[in-house]
Amino acid sequence: GREWHLVARPHGWPKAEDFALREAPVTAPGEGRVLVRNLYFSVDPYMRGRMNDVKSYTPPFQLDHPMDGGAVGEVIASNAEGFAVGDHVLHGLGWREYAEFPAGRAVKVDASLAPLSAYLGVLGMTGLTAYAGLFEVASFKEGDAVFVSGAAGAVGSQVGQMARIKGASRVIGSAGSDEKVKLLVEEYGFDAAFNYHDGPVVEQLRAAAPDGIDVYFDNVGGEHLEAAISSLNLHGRVTVCGMIAQYNATEPTPGPRNLALVIGKRLRIQGMLVGDHAALQPQFVQEVAGWLASGELKYRETFVEGIENGFDAFLGLLRGENTGKMIVSLA
Ligand code: NDP
Repeated sequence: GREWHLVARPHGWPKAEDFALREAPVTAPGEGRVLVRNLYFSVDPYMRGRMNDVKSYTPPFQLDHPMDGGAVGEVIASNAEGFAVGDHVLHGLGWREYAEFPAGRAVKVDASLAPLSAYLGVLGMTGLTAYAGLFEVASFKEGDAVFVSGAAGAVGSQVGQMARIKGASRVIGSAGSDEKVKLLVEEYGFDAAFNYHDGPVVEQLRAAAPDGIDVYFDNVGGEHLEAAISSLNLHGRVTVCGMIAQYNATEPTPGPRNLALVIGKRLRIQGMLVGDHAALQPQFVQEVAGWLASGELKYRETFVEGIENGFDAFLGLLRGENTGKMIVSLA
């Protein structure tokens, strides 16, 4: 089977030469293990950080080894109790066609409850990030005005809609194209949205939220964070989920110049990692599955077909070519 290796550490924007698609043997599962044919794998912004050789919350990818990440596949051989050929499983060995690993690292998923790809997005890691980041980290409450950046992406689109469903007074989103902005307002029910390429975020946010905001869910950092601090009301809260605007930066990026506003406004700015919120998983799945069934919550996915296009999918994600979760389909 083929698998993607990191062969050089990118400096700035990743280049095709930093990656290689290589052939690896497919082995029968050892004792207590399963062999899985991957049907979908996830490409995620956090993977850019893992391409650097720096100590972080997840270890860096190793050069000349397969990269990893979320994947859903079908068990094609099992040497483990409780797993049968044909079972669908969620696991952590993406970026490859076949994966052989201890069955304890696989979670069974039900293709009759939701499309398999949903377990990577709306019902998976990005969905839980949105859920935990809004309700637990930002302490969202009914009546809050919520601003989310990266609002047409996997995490952002779910944050905005969940805020609406739970009674936000106003939901504002920003995204990188007019088409995405239209989607936010017309399909996802945001009260206002803007294209951050159209002008200074601080001005566009002020126009979209004349009475200020109570919660900012940050997926982007940089200019967006500075603008949000400017628009936040007294006792406002910020969930710092991601700062994608700087993931390919080669120099340290400037911080918000208005940070002193945190004092007078008594703001709370808190970082999050989805892994800390696993306890919310059952409640998250139950509630989100309900909203999906009722049609209150909508989602998009962007599929890139074929393992050979895995790098292009990842680069496309960083460039904003996705609407909703970016997924590589091997099905
Ligand atoms: P998305 O589906 O949102 O895809 C990334 C999007 O980022 C692109 O579609 C693009 O949309 C936008 N983007 C790229 N560059 C810029 C830029 N310079 N300025 C503004 N927007 C930009 O990805 P995810 O939903 O998976 O992740 C969203 C964020 O959440 C990321 O920052 C990620 O790192 C973070 N995250 C954090 C987790 C945690 O535990 N802390 C867990 C999961 C995700 P556009 O066209 O609008 O520019």
